[in-house]
Amino acid sequence: MTQFPCTSCGACCSSIEGIAFLEKYNQNGSCNKLKDNECTIYEERPLLCRIDEAYDQIFSAYMTRKDFYRQNAKACNELQEKLNISLEYRVYI
Ligand code: SF4
Repeated sequence: MTQFPCTSCGACCSSIEGIAFLEKYNQNGSCNKLKDNECTIYEERPLLCRIDEAYDQIFSAYMTRKDFYRQNAKACNELQEKLNISLEYRVYI
């Protein structure tokens, strides 16, 4: 099964300010479920945090999986740059 190649950098979880569906988890811009750079509700995390399931359930109606992955990877890498995260975590599609 195809999976988005998330590198577990934690950048998305550290940048949830202004995302309406995740507002209840927002703590100064970071998710309050993120501890030691790991999601503490991983198995029950919201659909928005599940790239492949979100694609299957929502975005597949609008674009190909490859395009969805490309857009997500671009967002991941931009967030990583903004947060000065090491190059080893960059996502390549
Ligand atoms: S920013 Fe991208 S690579 Fe980093 S944890 Fe989130 S989905 Fe994974």
